[in-house]
Amino acid sequence: MQEDQRDPWLLTPGPLTTSELTKQAMLRDWGSRDATFIETNRRIQRRLLDLADATDSHVCVPVQGSGTFAVEATLGTLIGKTDKALVLINGAYGQRIARILDILGRRFETLESAENIPNDTAALAARLHRQPDITHVIAVHCETTSGILNPIPEIAGIVADAGRKLIIDAMSAFGALPLSASTIAFEAVIASSNKCLEGVPGLGFALIETNALQASRGNSPSLCLDLFDQWQTMKTSGQWRFTPPTHVIAALDAALEQLHQEGGPPARLRRYRNNCRVLVAGMRRLGFETLLPDHLQAPIIVTFRMPRTPEFCFEAFYAGLKHRGFVIYPGKLTVAESFRMGCIGHLGEQQIDGALAAVAATLNKLKVADSDPLPAPST
Ligand SMILES: *Cc1c(COP(=O)(O)O)cnc(C)c1O
Repeated sequence: MQEDQRDPWLLTPGPLTTSELTKQAMLRDWGSRDATFIETNRRIQRRLLDLADATDSHVCVPVQGSGTFAVEATLGTLIGKTDKALVLINGAYGQRIARILDILGRRFETLESAENIPNDTAALAARLHRQPDITHVIAVHCETTSGILNPIPEIAGIVADAGRKLIIDAMSAFGALPLSASTIAFEAVIASSNKCLEGVPGLGFALIETNALQASRGNSPSLCLDLFDQWQTMKTSGQWRFTPPTHVIAALDAALEQLHQEGGPPARLRRYRNNCRVLVAGMRRLGFETLLPDHLQAPIIVTFRMPRTPEFCFEAFYAGLKHRGFVIYPGKLTVAESFRMGCIGHLGEQQIDGALAAVAATLNKLKVADSDPLPAPST
């Protein structure tokens, strides 16, 4: 099948370009109560725990839906009525966590920094010291809004020293950026099938400390999103409570095998880092400017400032790239006009080079001689 040559490459944070093997894994039908399918689920759960060195301490609970479903399910299950969460926010996904807690009616506070500034660890330590009623801290590993890397090891150290629990939204990081339960204390890590794991969209999961999950019976205000219940059923029967996304699960199983073959998260991180390095260097040569300095940039997705020249129209730029076989992503920032290009998915240096050539050709066509960015925001 020549599909890769017909479909555009997705330079997006997910759903993203998947391999031929992953797509082929979906060309069958499975009975959800069949032993083969149950074994596939067990294998996936084992592998996901293994990726975070969490096999002895945590359990893996998958849930149907996109990543946000897994975030809402995990928070509703683990944050009890008498708990209080502190949400570290520097982008839209942190904001979304606060909104979920608000809707769930859970007690929470926020600690915010600008979208181009990492979570403030000194302020976190001070807040935890000042407020003994905070039971949980919730952090976003890579804030996909900007592509910024938050200091998870430092945050985890501070939270553990203060005797509180940490929940990490590692949606856009899990499978590539290092995250080991042996060095980072976390009550839960949440991720999904369709980002760095390079599966297709349709399920999220949480790795949850076994003791914490055991103590969470009755917390969730939802039927579908109760991870305690989901886990109870899976533990006893090996089955999902409600119709599982069978094809998504088969694709994830294949994707996890490919991650293993590639050399695990360290090898995937090397490929993404190289994608990111080539992309940023090439875009800078073409006159674009990144939102973030290199030391804050996670090799997941890069935010570029919108050029200030009137000839640069984002819609025309997007269409020009799509026509040349590359799909990029609009900006999601509030601090500056921007667009984003992803470094993740089943792609490497050759595709990034192709994307850079497409950017150059599109600029030429739009007659943009100078892609100087808009003035930087004052932060
Ligand atoms: C993608 C993502 C999510 C979940 O988004 P969905 O669109 O629901 O899959 C949550 N948090 C972060 C940091 C993400 O990158």
